[in-house]
Amino acid sequence: MTQVPCSCCNDPRQSEDFNYFADRCTWCQARRIQYIQRVLRLDQDTKRRRCQAVIEDVQSWGLDEAEVRRLAKLPERALQPVTAAPAPAQKPKRGRK
Ligand SMILES: [Zn+2]
Repeated sequence: MTQVPCSCCNDPRQSEDFNYFADRCTWCQARRIQYIQRVLRLDQDTKRRRCQAVIEDVQSWGLDEAEVRRLAKLPERALQPVTAAPAPAQKPKRGRK
């Protein structure tokens, strides 16, 4: 299973109220469900519909739906493990003027 490496999970690590959910990221989508379930003040019916919409997105992107559901149920916020993302080879930035 390949994961698109993302930095989208690093920003929420810094801040509790950083709410950005990247498309095509298993952890972000799990966090999106957690956000809907735990943060938003919605009635159960609306929550269920919003979560269903997330699952549909997840399916259409070909992500691992079972994994998203599993992560979303964890007590802690779903964040991509630091070790899961291999550090991209950084090209030295040349200051061009
Ligand atoms: Zn992410």
